[in-house]
Amino acid sequence: MTDDKMTPKERFHAALKQEPVDRIPITGITQTGTVDLMDACGAAWPEANQKAEGMVTLAWAAHEIAGIESVRVPFDVYIEGEAAGGELYKWKKTNQPMMKKYAIQSKEDVDKYEPPDPKRDGRMPEVLKAIEMLVEKCKKEDLPIISPVFAPFSLISLSLVDMMNLMMWLKTDIDLYHKLAKKAVETGVIYAEALLDAGVDTIFYNGGADGTVKLDDWLNISQPYSSEGATKIRELGAYVVYHSCADVKHLIADMADIKGIHCISVSQEVDMKETRELVGEKVALAGNVDPTYTLVKGTPEKVREEVKYDIESGTDVCCPGCGYGPNTPLENMKALVAAGHEFGKMARLAKL
Ligand SMILES: [Zn+2]
Repeated sequence: MTDDKMTPKERFHAALKQEPVDRIPITGITQTGTVDLMDACGAAWPEANQKAEGMVTLAWAAHEIAGIESVRVPFDVYIEGEAAGGELYKWKKTNQPMMKKYAIQSKEDVDKYEPPDPKRDGRMPEVLKAIEMLVEKCKKEDLPIISPVFAPFSLISLSLVDMMNLMMWLKTDIDLYHKLAKKAVETGVIYAEALLDAGVDTIFYNGGADGTVKLDDWLNISQPYSSEGATKIRELGAYVVYHSCADVKHLIADMADIKGIHCISVSQEVDMKETRELVGEKVALAGNVDPTYTLVKGTPEKVREEVKYDIESGTDVCCPGCGYGPNTPLENMKALVAAGHEFGKMARLAKL
């Protein structure tokens, strides 16, 4: 039926190492939960974001129903912030929860902050349980298992500290920021180690907040800590994909210099061709079909055209530029997978 020469995991890992592949991997490196998949598989948010069984059913649906060649849990970004003592709200079927109360409210809280214990805190134990269950399900087809961990600056600014406080500390007490950033590195490494022990092979190292800062600041407050964290996570045996989000045109060339990363998950707001020219062959690139204008609002034909453009422009992994929107029609998800198969042998690394 197929002329595949590699398993999905072999293909994805080879692409991350920029080694030859039989065709482009069609991997769900960003979140894959959609309402259409929830309706089709019977596991819906918010429960499928809270309990292991639902996480497994919904993650598996992206593979079984949509054809994505991987599984990924969980479906929101607040695992670490919640486990650290933050409070989430707006738990719904149609959106991910949001942060209501951040764990760190004052300078004293920075001193008191300790990385959460993955075996005990928040939903971390449920995520680990889901991964252990997915390991069994993924054996037969040899699918990669992916889970997100926040890079330090993004953990602090999106999940641990209120933006107003953070802005003030960055202006008036930079030492306090650096103290917290060291703890944020440790938080990510401890959590990543537990994810890897449970059976994850690829860490999606989420630099989602990078687009909010200028290059000079980014080189001071984000990049060094991401380098330290990614290096340690890679030393634990993980493949590391660094996620860029929103408008990072001013940073993308320097992101390739983050130590320890295999790949950049390229935001849809940055052109793939331009990114490949800027980055050269320093790292693999993944993406970057527009999750909103193309996948939620566009037609299957538009999805197909964009996948073709990205592959011709030098992407190494066929996937969206950010998480699938919950309202992505199933036919568009399937169109992305179909286009990955159709044009996959045109990929930069497809030589087998
Ligand atoms: Zn994103």
